[in-house]
Amino acid sequence: MTLPSDAAPWRLSCSACDTESPIVGASICKSCGQPLFARYAPVPVGTPLAPRWDAWRYSPFMPLLADEAPVSLGEGLTPLSEFQALADAVGVRRLWIKDEGQNPTASFKARGMSAAVTRARGAGVPGLVVPTAGNAGAALAAYGAAAGIPVRVFAPATTPRPILDTIEALGATLIRIDGHIGDAGKLAIAYAAETGYFNVSTLREPYRVEGMKTMGFEVAEQLGWRVPDVIVYPTGGGEGTIGIWKAINELLAGGWLPTGSQQPAYVVAQAAGCAPIARAFAAGHSKAEPWVDPMTYASGLRVPSPLGDQLLLRILREAGGVAATATEDAIRTWTRALSIATGIDAAPEGGCALSVLRDAVTQGTIAKNSEVVLFNTGAGASYRV
Ligand SMILES: *Cc1c(COP(=O)(O)O)cnc(C)c1O
Repeated sequence: MTLPSDAAPWRLSCSACDTESPIVGASICKSCGQPLFARYAPVPVGTPLAPRWDAWRYSPFMPLLADEAPVSLGEGLTPLSEFQALADAVGVRRLWIKDEGQNPTASFKARGMSAAVTRARGAGVPGLVVPTAGNAGAALAAYGAAAGIPVRVFAPATTPRPILDTIEALGATLIRIDGHIGDAGKLAIAYAAETGYFNVSTLREPYRVEGMKTMGFEVAEQLGWRVPDVIVYPTGGGEGTIGIWKAINELLAGGWLPTGSQQPAYVVAQAAGCAPIARAFAAGHSKAEPWVDPMTYASGLRVPSPLGDQLLLRILREAGGVAATATEDAIRTWTRALSIATGIDAAPEGGCALSVLRDAVTQGTIAKNSEVVLFNTGAGASYRV
């Protein structure tokens, strides 16, 4: 097994079978096709964080070379605010909302693209391509522009108009397709093979999820270096949820959390019109079947065949929690409730998360005395057409 070196303080290996991979230009595991993970020596508690006010504050945990400046637009360090009236309405003891709508291009996708574009620039790629349900394309357009690398985005024509406009405003080439993100994914793979553009599709390259880890580090630090009982994440491709879980594993390994700390339970929130993970979880499966005819206006959740299915189901088995769904009506109702109770311009994905949490508490799968952190992953403004 290769150890991390000073030159590159991480190595890459498969999240499932641990087969090693080169750290440059890697995609998925050559042996089993599962996502690759960056592996580091534990970062001991007390290691100084970087003196900067963005997500790269957590650089000791990140795939960054010595003296390398990341491609950054001020992503991360988003507010974590507690709302007692909303906690009471949902029926939990304490509830914090992490507002990811306050990122560059208005979603947490900025964190992942900052990391992925940093590594892609390091590899000298000629261009970047991504299939997207929307926000990943806007984020890639922004970070590609910041790095001076051309970007091509394949997105469903039904993606909310403000998101498509942002992609084009940032200079990316936008291909509107008649289909869902799975169809866009096939086109992106073909385009990358033809042109040498690097494909940064969810979990098909190993560094976006590293950027997502910073949400986990921030929650722990914002709570005074501890973790909540429950994390609620509106889940499509799974990168957000997997990143937070990976971050908390790395904090546990380095001794950053109080003795006896463990992973929180995870609530994987999906839309009833596209719920491959919730369906597999209910059936007790370790893999998800593709969802036929995915349908939801919470476009970030319209991912019928996520590459992270096995990892997500493993997280639920090992850490505990539940994967469950909200209907389109419930998403609408709880998005409005979230916005009005907090002043946050909630995305429908955030409303979906709140609805699923409420049901889980009502049904007793999440205990009423829980301390819960719920992610509002985007901004309502992106969906107002
Ligand atoms: C992408 C996205 C999601 C789903 O996140 P995954 O990491 O793919 O599970 C949720 N909400 C919004 C707003 C998104 O853009």
